Amino acid sequence: MPPSFADVILPVPIPKMFTYRIPRSLESSVGIGYRVIVQFGKKKVLTGIIGKVHKKPPKEYEAKPILDLLDDYPVVNPLQIKFWFWMAEYYCCHIGEVMNAALPTGLKLSSESKIQLNPKFDFVSNEFPIDDREQVILDALESKDELSYEDCGKLLGVKSSYAIIKSLVLKEAVLVYEQVKEKYSPKVESRIKLTEPYTSSKEELEKLFEQISKKPKQEEILLKYLQEVPVHKFPEKNKNGLDKKTITDAGLSLSSLKTLIKNKVLEEFKVVISRFDELAGYDHPIELADFQEEGLQNIKTEFEQKQTVLLHGITGSGKTEIYIKLIQEVLESGSQVLLLLPEIALTTQIVSRLQKVFGSQMGIFHSKYSDNERVEVWQGVLSGRFSFVVGVRSSVFLPFDSLGMVIVDEEHEASYKQFDPAPRFQARDAAIMLSWLHQSKTLLGSATPSFESFYNARMKKYGYVHLNKRFGEAQLPEYHLSDILVDKKKNLLKLDFTRLMREKIQEALNQQEQALIFQNRRGYAPYMSCEECGWIPECEHCDVSLTYHQYSEEMRCHYCGFKEKVPRACPACGSHKLTTVGMGTERIAESLSLLFPEARIGRMDLDTTRSKYAYQKILEDFGAGNLDILVGTQMITKGLDFDRVTVVGIVDADRILYFPDFRAGERAFQQITQVAGRAGRRNRHGSVVIQTRKPDNDIFHQIIQGNYEHFYINEMSERQRFFYPPFVKTLKITTKHKEIKIAERASKHLSNLLKDIPVKKIILGPEKALIGKIKNQYLFDILIKLDKSNNAPALFKHELAMVLEELKSQKDFKSVRFTVDVDPY
Ligand code: ADP
Ligand code: ZN
Ligand code: ZN
Repeated sequence: MPPSFADVILPVPIPKMFTYRIPRSLESSVGIGYRVIVQFGKKKVLTGIIGKVHKKPPKEYEAKPILDLLDDYPVVNPLQIKFWFWMAEYYCCHIGEVMNAALPTGLKLSSESKIQLNPKFDFVSNEFPIDDREQVILDALESKDELSYEDCGKLLGVKSSYAIIKSLVLKEAVLVYEQVKEKYSPKVESRIKLTEPYTSSKEELEKLFEQISKKPKQEEILLKYLQEVPVHKFPEKNKNGLDKKTITDAGLSLSSLKTLIKNKVLEEFKVVISRFDELAGYDHPIELADFQEEGLQNIKTEFEQKQTVLLHGITGSGKTEIYIKLIQEVLESGSQVLLLLPEIALTTQIVSRLQKVFGSQMGIFHSKYSDNERVEVWQGVLSGRFSFVVGVRSSVFLPFDSLGMVIVDEEHEASYKQFDPAPRFQARDAAIMLSWLHQSKTLLGSATPSFESFYNARMKKYGYVHLNKRFGEAQLPEYHLSDILVDKKKNLLKLDFTRLMREKIQEALNQQEQALIFQNRRGYAPYMSCEECGWIPECEHCDVSLTYHQYSEEMRCHYCGFKEKVPRACPACGSHKLTTVGMGTERIAESLSLLFPEARIGRMDLDTTRSKYAYQKILEDFGAGNLDILVGTQMITKGLDFDRVTVVGIVDADRILYFPDFRAGERAFQQITQVAGRAGRRNRHGSVVIQTRKPDNDIFHQIIQGNYEHFYINEMSERQRFFYPPFVKTLKITTKHKEIKIAERASKHLSNLLKDIPVKKIILGPEKALIGKIKNQYLFDILIKLDKSNNAPALFKHELAMVLEELKSQKDFKSVRFTVDVDPY
């Protein structure tokens, strides 16, 4: 039989897989999706995943053998591998980069794996002899606490060193550990149970109590055990025993417990327990209203024709209730469901609502989870424990094997796009692809659909269902435009709040109602400035001004984290007149506490929600009525559903509107509508106050009238005229280098090469990036607009990959970094 070969995906920035020979001994046990250890180059040992198995030896090199197999079963399935390849190709990145993003760290063995001497190893009485070459490693470890696989390779040659390490591991002379701090480890609980014959014979148990009657501490422990586990009444309960902690928590003696274990009265055993609580789901009592039922039926009818359906339902129309009905049906048919939520909505009410219905079959995949928790969700999907997962964008990588439906809630959310590192994917678009690979359906839900999705619906590529009523008595809120400049002239502007805004907040407070105040800027003030000479403090490493944080009396860079104390005097002119300009959430919370001293005020932004449960805690406080006013960034616009919120205030709408980006209008429409949708969710009447300097801007009137379609048509004609998505495909290539000249030259050179690619396109730039320097690297951007017909984008990307490889191999540009962002935001 000819030998077999495996193409292995390796975590290195190289555009293809590498072929290795499968040793005869492994032939029957490997396949797609297994993790293997292979030698890479002269010095490295890497963990990779088999992407393909075949009989063709590589032409350009002689295949090295696979050194070892790590799994008894594949950790990723063939559909996932297909999905990875699609992603690498579409988003112009390397397959190894996709693998890195897809696998939780706990499933990755890195080449930086290290070995240490096993402190328990007994060199003297050890039953396995250590040979000379093994001794070399052990000696080296005596003088250097740890060695990496690479270090060992230098001592003994890569290939043999791997075998020697393995043999030392088997002999338990060394321990391997990962560079990553948190390797997956199951959570283990120590339990105790009563031994035979005391469980089955009452006499023996009585005898035992007589024996230990002089040892009250032991007696107490036994009594406690029998109280918790009544073995004489329910003998089967002894099997599960009792958590050892129950004994020690009750203040009973640990040493007496040990004696009982030593005397074989009690037996200690370990069980692996889940990090997630077991929860039973229950029947969902909610019945859909007529218009919702109709919506549900329309979705199903659309799915008969279309793979993807857009559910355009205004805030509070009951989209979540419709999702629940659909999910129940898919799960009953035996398929899996994935529900994607924007990052920030994931700790909120929607998740607990879903958990009540679906209980433990629902897995949650949160970005603040530890790697252990992620691996557990991963394993839970593999084992079938979780047939339904609610998660952030990276949950598209979970090992589903039979998806029946993918739902993307708030599909317009910008946070579905990953910026860095590669793959720079759009999770909504990736979800549609994933769903297609599974021959499954995708439902996109939003009150303010992205223009891309709405366009696809209008072009009949997607099905479309519209819900334009709120559930129950809830009415859409009343909007008020409040002119900042008019109030300023009349001296009615106090601490940045107009009179109308203050009145509305005061009314809410008087009625024991709540207010949400929105400002999309964290910190105290966007920047400081010298009143005399106009000097503005800037980051030393980036091209941005520093944000003033009052709480810590610091100025911080939001791009690189650089921070600095506020100077006493202006370094440019020596003046002491340094003032803050503009306002962030911190300052707004402070102003509100001055204007409404009796109100309890909370703040929600990146700075107040860094810890794992902080976000939840603030929302719980707000929901329980412990806060009257909540100030926040776009974090408060998402999926919040609070009965008592009657006022929503937008402090500076112009900041959202005037942004140098073709999506600014779309985003302003979405953000304002979303945050406004938090007001008056039940039968209370809600008001939205928008502070602006330009109340005449037509966009406000479109928002107020809920005239999404009208707004869409206006914006789209602009986009068509100026060649913007969805009429073209865009692609951004950023060139980075620590020397500005080299960055610019590389970018120009690249742009020239791209001009020759025979595809219809427009190339803009190179131009200094919007933020021209970040972390001491200079950035130049090239924006490419591609004609969408004739497969042009795919052809272009293919050529681009070759051009970049070619560029990187040139001496001048070796240290330049090029990043490609497909469909950039
Ligand atoms: P959306 O996701 O469209 O904003 P939700 O699903 O959150 O809307 O619904 C808004 C509120 O109305 C929620 O509190 C929800 O529980 C309630 N609701 C919606 N539909 C029903 C229904 N058919 N019966 C009872 N309550 C409903
Ligand atoms: Zn100055
Ligand atoms: Zn910086």
